[in-house]
Amino acid sequence: MAEFTLDLNDDQKQVRDWLHGFAADVIRPAASEWDEREETPWPVIQEAAKVGIYSLDFYAQQFFDPTGLGIPMAMEELFWGDAGIALSIVGTGLAAVGVLANGTEEQIGTWIPQMYGDANDVKVAAFCSSEPDAGSDVASMRTRAVYDEAKDEWVLNGTKTWATNGGIANVHVVVAVVDPGLGSKGHASFIVPPATPGLSQGQKFKKHGIRASHTAEVVLEDVRVPGHCLLGGKEKLDERLARARERAKAGGERVKNAAMATFEASRPAVGAMAVGTARAAYEVALDYAKTRSQFGRPIIDNQGIAFQLADMRTRIDAARLLVWRASWMATTGKPFTSAEGSMSKLYASETAKSVTAQAIQILGGNGFTREYPVERMHRDAAIYTIFEGTSEIQRLVIARTLSGMPIR
Ligand SMILES: Cc1cc2nc3c(=O)[nH]c(=O)nc-3n(C[C@H](O)[C@H](O)[C@H](O)COP(=O)(O)OP(=O)(O)OC[C@H]3O[C@@H](n4cnc5c(N)ncnc54)[C@H](O)[C@@H]3O)c2cc1C
Repeated sequence: MAEFTLDLNDDQKQVRDWLHGFAADVIRPAASEWDEREETPWPVIQEAAKVGIYSLDFYAQQFFDPTGLGIPMAMEELFWGDAGIALSIVGTGLAAVGVLANGTEEQIGTWIPQMYGDANDVKVAAFCSSEPDAGSDVASMRTRAVYDEAKDEWVLNGTKTWATNGGIANVHVVVAVVDPGLGSKGHASFIVPPATPGLSQGQKFKKHGIRASHTAEVVLEDVRVPGHCLLGGKEKLDERLARARERAKAGGERVKNAAMATFEASRPAVGAMAVGTARAAYEVALDYAKTRSQFGRPIIDNQGIAFQLADMRTRIDAARLLVWRASWMATTGKPFTSAEGSMSKLYASETAKSVTAQAIQILGGNGFTREYPVERMHRDAAIYTIFEGTSEIQRLVIARTLSGMPIR
């Protein structure tokens, strides 16, 4: 088991520098254009595919880094470049992880390559869980999956919302209810293959931030998928449902805790994205404060500005430490006895929001314009306290874990 260390090894440093180069040379220069266009930046994704950043191999390598620091390091660098474009690049990974976590080897081998396509014909994938009436409250999901035994097909009906890459994806991973009596334990995940009849894109959202990332509703009307599209297979699902029914009878708490453990492990990655955005805004603000003069001296000469920068940097470093700790814990199988995954996501996302707001203040009028990137970074930062569990939900998880009480 890897010991926790803050010293990146030579391989990690090499990957970090390579990603930073891509973020600085390809992502950042394209950020403003794609934010204004509010469209998926296909040419940038293609560029990422050509150099190997947009591929399953790359994410698998980072994911299986035994120190746990591969993914947070990669996320921080890409999101330092630009959050909207970076989400377009890593968004497919959400769906791929859904298949890696629940799929059979055959499903992984069949569907993940189709999610990415290749450098000459890049594709994206979508992970569709949220619904209009099931956001934080995942258990109130309504999309139904009913098994048609005669045809060995699953029939999906419902409306998903907020799906990153929803409707433009080659492969959609859809979470649906198979047993309404079991809450979130009665859910299962399905692959919807390319060009399946009945799946359509609903509204595409015009957003406050991360506008280069496509977010849309996905409508499922009598979508029929073959039995082999149930992730993990029918036998495993039946066993899992039987176990969940038994556990629910014995007392629901264990069921809830197992689901929470999964989320705890994925949250530090979002924290790392937030650290990337915060660091980007801090760097712009530091540079500006050293070069902008008022009253005959650089504005950083004033404690009022210098202390803000000191606080910004301190919070960013603290956020990264929480993220790295949680990622290391997840990779080395340490139990999150104090909801350390939620802590890292909560602190890093709130840091990104406040640091980007401070950056606007330090740039004065320029910070408020689209001539400078910090207003975009501030708009982008707002997403981190919302998706993958809002800040309120993180606090709820932490408070429940620490107190052992069913706090509402
Ligand atoms: C840009 C974007 C991309 C997304 N991408 C995806 C995706 O790819 N796939 C996917 O499935 N989903 C995705 N989501 C959905 C995202 O995960 C949800 O928006 C999020 O879980 C919150 O759900 P909600 O928006 O319905 O808010 P709600 O759950 O309605 O919450 C509204 C407010 O009430 C608060 N609240 C709710 N319950 C409680 C409580 N018990 N205690 C205290 N406060 C509470 C919340 O914190 C929030 O402030 C995305 C969302 C956005 C905006």
